[in-house]
Amino acid sequence: MKRLSEFEASIDQWKIDGIKVRCIMMHCPLPGCDHDIRIPFSKSAVALPDGRPVWKHEAGATVEDITLSPSYHLMKSDGYCGLHGFVRNGNWIGV
Ligand SMILES: [Zn+2]
Repeated sequence: MKRLSEFEASIDQWKIDGIKVRCIMMHCPLPGCDHDIRIPFSKSAVALPDGRPVWKHEAGATVEDITLSPSYHLMKSDGYCGLHGFVRNGNWIGV
């Protein structure tokens, strides 16, 4: 378990197809990775028009205490790095 702040996390606004959604921006927590990730979230967690998933904002207001659900997974089968974990109470909990 590590603090999101260790990965220079911030909460930002992302505009996709004219729709504004809040997101966590941070460096990928997986050791050896040097890319950034962006996790969109909202209270309703309705997917974006392009089908991109949106995580449910469960609790917290800043990167120090935010909790999202479900887990975040960049699947290797989709060509990504395999990062998998939870954002809970401002922590990154890898699985
Ligand atoms: Zn990665």
